[in-house]
Amino acid sequence: FDLKNDDFTSLAELGSGNGGCVMKVQHVRTGTIMAKKVVLIDAKPAERKKILLELQIMHDCDSSFIVSSYGAYLAEPNICLCMEYMDKGSFDAIYKRMGPIDVRIVGKVAVSVLEGQRYLYDVHRIIHRDIKPSNILLNSQGEIKLCDFGVSGELINSIANTFVGTSIYMSPERIQGATYSVKSDIWSLGITLIELTVGQFPFSGSFDSDNDSDLENEHDHPSLLFANTDTSGDKTPAPPDPNGHRASLTIPSDLPSAKRRSRRRSKGVSLHGGGMTISIIELMHQIVNEPAPRLPKGKYGADAEAFVDACLEKDGEKRTGLTGLFEMRWIQDSRANGMDVAAWTKTF
Ligand code: ATP
Ligand code: MG
Repeated sequence: FDLKNDDFTSLAELGSGNGGCVMKVQHVRTGTIMAKKVVLIDAKPAERKKILLELQIMHDCDSSFIVSSYGAYLAEPNICLCMEYMDKGSFDAIYKRMGPIDVRIVGKVAVSVLEGQRYLYDVHRIIHRDIKPSNILLNSQGEIKLCDFGVSGELINSIANTFVGTSIYMSPERIQGATYSVKSDIWSLGITLIELTVGQFPFSGSFDSDNDSDLENEHDHPSLLFANTDTSGDKTPAPPDPNGHRASLTIPSDLPSAKRRSRRRSKGVSLHGGGMTISIIELMHQIVNEPAPRLPKGKYGADAEAFVDACLEKDGEKRTGLTGLFEMRWIQDSRANGMDVAAWTKTF
């Protein structure tokens, strides 16, 4: 497809996140229903060309565990990514509507995410970088697929939002400034699996982010949390790492105003749990310093517990890799557990 704005009629808004918004659209000439993600970018013309080239990789992906792409185009000042429409939406919306998801379905999610990660890594040498429930999509055929993977370091660096690249699913080593690796994505998978099974994001709010005295404390040891933090000013992207990807957070030098803006603009930044809110700074502190979250004991089976524990090994070096995870009993059992995901999608 050679795509442009005029080729589409908008049908509905599917949702929006940090980087932009996603519309359900119809490609007029062919009648194809697609999901079109519109991202506001902040980059020079030469960089934009490079972004489109990098997005070509996404176009070249061919896996039943990856949302396929129809193409991308520039529509100043936005970049538009047209992808396969997944009619049952993302797993965050599903569990928020339906409550905790049957652990046997969550097992199928784990299998699909691992397969998607293995495909991206083995075939394209890509690390996803943003595994979380909103980037795991479902359709009524029962297919579970990954979207929004970090194909474009250039795109990540030019999205006009300071908090892009910051995620509440970040591994301890990423928070501390280590470069990305598949192991970081495995941590994010562990957090995601607990969230879907229990029906709640596993870090709890015991902290009120409206209390600015807590923020003062964070100024005492910012280097602990943000090893590669760029403090040169608002909206200045951090220097890319040798692979062209940002390795850690960009936090503007004026934290309090950054916090205010982030709470207005990005839903990932304040968390709601039992009426409490927690700032992202405090959350990062918890991830690095507290024991890793676990599935509640004895409720979901020892094999599921062991798998999640392996994903959430805090030391990235010691964390089990993709190959080891594929060999774990929960994954092997989940492949064959007889759950009919397509039939399950008919229940909502
Ligand atoms: P963030 O920006 O923090 O990554 P997010 O993943 O929720 O958050 P978007 O990637 O902009 O934000 O997606 C917004 C919503 O659009 C998703 O939660 C999902 O429900 C929906 N969505 C995205 N892609 C598709 C798709 N291909 N088919 C159907 N729905 C989609
Ligand atoms: Mg997304």
